[in-house]
Amino acid sequence: MSVSVCLTFDFDGISSWSGGARRTRSPNLLARGEFGAIGAERLLDLLEDRQLPSTWFTPGHTIDTWPDLCRRIAHAGHELAYHGYCHEAPSSKRDEADERAILERGIACIERVRGRPPAGSRNPGGNLGPRWVDLLLEYGFSYDSSMAPHDFQPTWVRKGDIARTDGPHVFGEPVDLVELPFDWALDDWPYFSPDLPRSEGLRSPNDVYEIWSAEFDYLHQRLGAGVFVLCLHPQCIGRGARMLMLERLLDHMADCDGVAFRTMEDAAAEFRSRAALDKVREQQFVDDAEMAEIVEDESLLRRLRAGSRDAAQRKGSFVD
Ligand SMILES: [Zn+2]
Repeated sequence: MSVSVCLTFDFDGISSWSGGARRTRSPNLLARGEFGAIGAERLLDLLEDRQLPSTWFTPGHTIDTWPDLCRRIAHAGHELAYHGYCHEAPSSKRDEADERAILERGIACIERVRGRPPAGSRNPGGNLGPRWVDLLLEYGFSYDSSMAPHDFQPTWVRKGDIARTDGPHVFGEPVDLVELPFDWALDDWPYFSPDLPRSEGLRSPNDVYEIWSAEFDYLHQRLGAGVFVLCLHPQCIGRGARMLMLERLLDHMADCDGVAFRTMEDAAAEFRSRAALDKVREQQFVDDAEMAEIVEDESLLRRLRAGSRDAAQRKGSFVD
């Protein structure tokens, strides 16, 4: 298994209309968010039907508004991850104490439904302010998914970059936080949601299928390994024509060899294990027994061994 497909759902519901940057009280717009609950039910049925894992970036406000529906997500084995309390994007104008309060409230809502704190975060709007790296590290997050320095490879988040204009960009040091790519190209919102003046939306699902399947094919056929992170909003993808397009895309990806559907938490854990192994391998030979000591999860261990052999064959070399 060398390509991981991560289906992620930003279950904003009403929060991205009543809160966040919009703060609207328009009944029409709030109703668009309300449809998110209908879309979520449809998506959960589809995932159940196909026995697929997924990750739901869910604001605390959504959990408080639809507790039973969010319990259904957790009880079906899907991952619940952080997405603000009421869809607040990070802001340099907000006090750190306020950012911390939002984070703690959002975490508490997820913990209530999930039984443990979230492992991952996607900040609303895909914004990752400098302050947030420290906060996510402090609160023990394993991964973030708010930006894409690589389209298909997980990377380590860095601290200390300096964006110079009088010389080359200065790259900071990696920290213990995995970045799983989030990019607008694989996000349903700009394609489908009329959000003037930023986006006209209402694109044909066939157009979007063409883009998304070609992105996936490039990863699968040309690169051979990586993560394909699709970002979907239940209030957006949940409409009939788009749902049928999503079904078609799932069929296409599931038909390809070496593809596994994973939660983001699992994809981050796998990246961490591989990185740990690579580090050891740089220094000394690691046999199967030593590998087992480093990686405790049996199924992950099997995948890593298989992955090492696949990689060796592709490169025409022997690494095991
Ligand atoms: Zn959102």
